[in-house]
Amino acid sequence: MLTLGGCHPDPAQPASPPPVAEPVLVEARLRMVREQIVARGIADPRVLEVMGRVPRHEFVPASRRAEAYEDCPLPIGYGQTISQPYIVAFMTAVLNPRPGDRVLEIGTGSGYQAAVLADLVAEVYTMEIIEPLAKRAEADLKRLGYANVKVRAGDGYRGWPEAAPFDAIIVTCAPEDVPPALVDQLKEGGRMILPVGSQWGAQELYLLRKTATGMKRQGMLPVRFVPMVKGPG
Ligand code: SAH
Repeated sequence: MLTLGGCHPDPAQPASPPPVAEPVLVEARLRMVREQIVARGIADPRVLEVMGRVPRHEFVPASRRAEAYEDCPLPIGYGQTISQPYIVAFMTAVLNPRPGDRVLEIGTGSGYQAAVLADLVAEVYTMEIIEPLAKRAEADLKRLGYANVKVRAGDGYRGWPEAAPFDAIIVTCAPEDVPPALVDQLKEGGRMILPVGSQWGAQELYLLRKTATGMKRQGMLPVRFVPMVKGPG
């Protein structure tokens, strides 16, 4: 049986590694759910089921497929990463997605988090500032049959006003402060999860709730995400 690789930031990879058989990937995915997600206390059955189903290996470079179910982020090109599976599961569980929800994601990256959400809600709108990443994620999501995800190349600080308001917003890159446009585009009663902090200093994952009397903020977990960069203009 093929041994799944370790958690190395960017080891030298053969240009075309041997393909990993589908049953090995399925087994690795279910082990990921047990050992990385259930073992760390996530119990929401919808989240566990979707993490056991979405093919994470389809969202990583072919040369990293054998590592797709390891307990770590992986490079996806353009200096960006696909988040650690546990972080995807944690943010999804905290967001508490409901079947009728319309959700905005900022930081499409590989499209994996969008795929996880797409299986749990009505519609996902996802924005990515690096255009080739947006294009690639859009093609991958389409190829894999995620018909309820819309991808836009653009600056997440502006949000997606034409599709607002959203029931929930998830930000998978770290701004230094909560972007005001995203607060505006959240429904009253809506939830937003995002890491806040500087690139080099501490970042904290926050759950925000929009109430009639303002935003309520709850710190959840220290994290390290790539920075949310400002677009031109
Ligand atoms: N959710 C992704 C991982 C995100 S990595 C996944 O499942 O693979 C964070 C992404 O945020 C990067 O691709 C980065 O280019 C993007 N990003 C950074 N600043 C942004 C901005 N202002 N607007 C939109 N996307 C941004």
